[in-house]
This record gives sequence, C-alpha cells and structure tokens, in this order.
Amino acid sequence: MIRFVNASKTYDNGVKALSNINVKVDKGEFVFIVGPSGAGKSTLIKLLLKEEDLTSGSVFLNEMDITKVKSRRIPYIRRTIGVVFQDFRILPNKTVYENIAFAMEILGAHPKEIRRRVPMVLSMVDLSNKANCYPNQLSGGEHQRVSIARAIVNNPPVLIADEPTGNLDHDTAWGIMEIFKEINRRGTTVLMATHAKEIVDLMKKRVIALESGRIVRDEEKGVYNHET
Ligand code: ADP
Ligand code: ADP
Repeated sequence: MIRFVNASKTYDNGVKALSNINVKVDKGEFVFIVGPSGAGKSTLIKLLLKEEDLTSGSVFLNEMDITKVKSRRIPYIRRTIGVVFQDFRILPNKTVYENIAFAMEILGAHPKEIRRRVPMVLSMVDLSNKANCYPNQLSGGEHQRVSIARAIVNNPPVLIADEPTGNLDHDTAWGIMEIFKEINRRGTTVLMATHAKEIVDLMKKRVIALESGRIVRDEEKGVYNHET
C-alpha cells in the first residue's frame, strides 16, 4: 500500500529532515508514527501527500512511484489519501454539511452521490444533528469529527492524521480515537503521527519511531517509548 525506499529529504536550508527511510505499510494496518518534535514525522506525511518532494529515493502508493507523478495527477493522490490535521482546517463560512460536500465536489462527484454519501459519513462520526451548523457553533471534538468526515467521504483506502488529538482534552481525544479505530476496522489503512503517549500505549498498534530523520524503532503492538 505505502512504501518508502531509501527515501531522504533535505530542505533548501540544508536541514536533513529524513535520512534513508525504508518502510512498508500494508493495506488495513493501523500505524502510529512517534518521535520528538523535529524528528521528521510531518515531513514523512508531506512526502506522501506530495506537498514536499523527495531529495532522493522513492515513495510508492499502491505500487505507483509518486515521486514520478506529474502535478496534473496529484488529484489521484488526494483521492487515495484522506488527511486529518491537528488544527482541523474546516472552512468557516460553510456549514458542516457543505464542508463535507465540498470535498466531494472538488473531485467532481455527482450531486446525487454527494446527497447519498454526506449523510452517511455524518452519521459515522455522529454529527447528523449538526449538519447545518457553522464551525463557530461547534466544540473542538466536533470540529475534528467534521474533518474526519471530510477526509473519508471520498472513501480513500488510506487515512493520514497529523496530531489529530493535539488540541483536544483527554475524553474528547479518546472519542476521536474510537472513530479512527472504526474506520480502520472497515479496512482503511490508518497512519497517525502523534505525541499522545497514553493513547499509543493503550491501543497496542504498530509503532514506528523517528529520531533525527531516521527510523529507530518499528514494533508490532508497540509503545510510545521505553522510558517511564
Ligand atoms: P516533526 O513533524 O517530527 O516535528 P518535521 O518533519 O516537521 O518534524 O521536521 C523535521 C526537520 O525538518 C526539523 O528540523 C524541521 O525544523 C525541519 N523542517 C521542517 N519543515 C521545514 C521547511 N519547510 N524548511 C526547512 N526545514 C524544515
Ligand atoms: P458497503 O459494503 O455497502 O460499503 P459498509 O457498511 O462497509 O457496506 O459501508 C457502508 C457505506 O459506508 C459505504 O458507502 C461505504 O463506502 C462506506 N464506508 C465503509 N467503510 C468506510 C470507511 N472506512 N470510511 C468511510 N466510509 C466507509
């Protein structure tokens, strides 16, 4: 599903964010990416989304080398990967329903399909009763559920989340994790960068740890770190 082969990224200012990353994630896996600030987690995600280009090596998505993908084919990547960010990135002047519908419109979905699909994902994230609310009427957890609904509405095989619980309190964060678990249970591959130690330790999923741009640990049923 996802494969990094000898992948390195050096930014224009000379910072080596990733050094020779080799890793494979299979369809249906749930993977945490952990590591201190500056370890390279966001860079890894940006390479997958083609927001940054590799300096050397390759990144494969469904056997396609995305480092060779021309910019006009980037919509293919946007269709394959749903993304959830720490700061939600919801459009403030659109309702919950419109925010989610918009994600389908930009990929050219049929209006009938949009009308069928948006209520379905709203129900999945338990927001059916907030469909006509504007973002400023929502709590933090609800914001994040809108952004998850938007990320999955086009049914991508991969869902990537960068610190999705970073702005949420403990109970709200666990509610969000339940949704990710359910999405994964339905077959979606989930890749999540996080600092939420308690969540990582209790979920017992695969953990890939980065430090200074290198993979220092890759464990099935891993933990956030081995210190106490
Ligand atoms: P993390 O997400 O683990 O905090 P990042 O991938 O954001 O790590 O950053 C890895 C390294 O790359 C850091 O040293 C960071 O300062 C640097 N970096 C990130 N983005 C840029 C950029 N656009 N230009 C230059 N350096 C960057
Ligand atoms: P079906 O086989 O009809 O897709 P499901 O109960 O798995 O049955 O799905 C019902 C609807 O929810 C379908 O439209 C499907 O595309 C959607 N769906 C299933 N899994 C996910 C998921 N992980 N994320 C978002 N939508 C999903």
